[in-house]
Amino acid sequence: MQFTRLRLTGFKSFVDSTDLPIEPGMTGVIGPNGCGKSNLVEALRWVMGETSAKRMRGGEMDDVIFGGTATRPRREIAEVALLIDNKERAVSNVANLQDELEVVRRIERGSGSDFKVNGKSVRAKDVQILFADASTGANSPSLVSQGKVAAIISAKPQDRRFVLEDAAGIAGIRARRHEAELK
Ligand code: ATP
Ligand code: MG
Repeated sequence: MQFTRLRLTGFKSFVDSTDLPIEPGMTGVIGPNGCGKSNLVEALRWVMGETSAKRMRGGEMDDVIFGGTATRPRREIAEVALLIDNKERAVSNVANLQDELEVVRRIERGSGSDFKVNGKSVRAKDVQILFADASTGANSPSLVSQGKVAAIISAKPQDRRFVLEDAAGIAGIRARRHEAELK
């Protein structure tokens, strides 16, 4: 699965529309402290279905919306779009399958957020399963937050099991089982 583009509007410090191409190979993001490097990684995590405001370094999910500065008013809406090259069909479980997938998450202050895949409304769970089946996602071990390396090393065995399950590619199965149990 190759991410090709990340678009942000009103997400955290990215108040203006920002469109970042992601080239094949390694991508590095450099910049001074506080310029928004971690916010970019959080935008990825969020669009892949993160449900915990805490893991987004906020008190509530609305905190991902640009909160305003001395010179600019706060925003009411934030949107993140992730474009994926799916020619190799790493994702095969969505109905409207195409060579390019566009996953969009949008949040409005006080109203929660919604997801679309190629323009079609889907549930958060669908997006989480989509990425879990492709062995990546909001909680996958491949997304390691600042300071989390030490936490993984010192984790309890049962907590570390989730990391190993994700690495083994069975996270999609766990997500589906959880959904089945809720029904
Ligand atoms: P470091 O090098 O220290 O890790 P960084 O480049 O990772 O820094 P981030 O943590 O991504 O920086 O960005 C922090 C900045 O984002 C802070 O200036 C903070 O005020 C701003 N920020 C976070 N959430 C919001 C929000 N909802 N609205 C406006 N600005 C925000
Ligand atoms: Mg950072």
